[in-house]
Amino acid sequence: MVGAGLAGLRTAEALRDKGFAGELVLVGDEVHLPYDRPPLSKHVLRGERDPVLLRPEAAYAELALDLRLGVAATGLDLQTRRVLTGHDPIPFDQLVIATGATPRRLPGSPGHVLRTLDDAQALAPLLAPGRVIGVVGAGLIGCEVAASARAKGAEVHVVDLLPRPLVRVLGDAVAARVQALHEEHGVRFHLATSVVQASAAHLELGDGTVLDLDALLEAMGVVPTTGWLATSGLTVDDGVVCDENGRATDGVWAVGDVARWGSTRHEHWTSATRQAEAVAAGVLGLPPAAGEPPYWWSDQYDVKLQGLGRLEVGDDVVVVETGPRKRPLAVYSRGGLLSGAVGFSNAAAVFALKERFGDPLDEVLATLG
Ligand code: FAD
Repeated sequence: MVGAGLAGLRTAEALRDKGFAGELVLVGDEVHLPYDRPPLSKHVLRGERDPVLLRPEAAYAELALDLRLGVAATGLDLQTRRVLTGHDPIPFDQLVIATGATPRRLPGSPGHVLRTLDDAQALAPLLAPGRVIGVVGAGLIGCEVAASARAKGAEVHVVDLLPRPLVRVLGDAVAARVQALHEEHGVRFHLATSVVQASAAHLELGDGTVLDLDALLEAMGVVPTTGWLATSGLTVDDGVVCDENGRATDGVWAVGDVARWGSTRHEHWTSATRQAEAVAAGVLGLPPAAGEPPYWWSDQYDVKLQGLGRLEVGDDVVVVETGPRKRPLAVYSRGGLLSGAVGFSNAAAVFALKERFGDPLDEVLATLG
């Protein structure tokens, strides 16, 4: 496995769970033991919790894993079946690519990004009362950092080219609710406008606004980390191109944020773990588990957004209020059939729809109270 994050480690664990007794090598360029990324933009940034390891240090021995941290893969030689590292090449029978994704940057990279524990530890002290934080990009990371920064008393400006935060994930009507949630908490949005000039201390926007900042976060999404595969001969096109089971070519697989399975690349925690399970099965020649709709969550203020399915342009959305507390549930449909759901702290309602994907929307709505 190359990439010692969620997908790489979970693949190793799944291989052992399924009875693989051979040699396992996990190579990662970070020096930390594999840790969980979701808390970085939430509790870790707010200083409420230490980083969360994906596996306790003491539990590595039972995995019998040759864990090589602080080692970057620099290339892949498919002819001799070796991963190149700048030191000794690592031979393999089967390879799982799990190198994740890398934040997109503004020209000159003037700001901070948030992908790694080191990034979070650099950003956290800057989120302090009275400090002015500029966030470029109103996606999941930008919105979560905005919420954490407000919780710590910083002033927050969020800039995006699109007209609403999270509009690509949620569609306009639901994104408007997220925008309202942030505005109620004092976030100032600068939407449908571009960044003309950026430095660590200033943002100049297309609508003429100039912001003086104490810190800038670049949160404009990620690109799959595939640079090391450039001369490998693997097909790379918005990720390592794989079949529907994660197989890129003979004995080479890809999982997690770096992997494009069929037409889709997912950038969510649950997809990475499910793909790790599926690839471990594939490596061992076991049948794949049945597919489930993709799931994601995001914590912003006291709201846990939870989504099932994947929004496509033209999907319809109806927002209903369900359960004793009348919490919002957005129900998405394509061609009149259920295609997705997003709940606002409404987990039970979201999960209840998991088995109903593809059912007629009318029937689904009739059962929601
Ligand atoms: P990563 O976790 O990025 O692991 C890849 C590893 O490979 C990294 O350690 C990287 O340094 C290493 N690597 C890269 N190149 C090389 C190389 N050449 N050689 C060796 N090692 C290399 N998802 C949700 O569903 N809900 C959330 O609330 C949520 N919050 C998030 C908050 C943050 C701040 C971030 C960054 C992500 C969040 N996610 C969330 C997404 C989720 O964490 C990712 O989908 C998941 O981490 C992907 O796992 P991965 O193993 O594919 O990639």
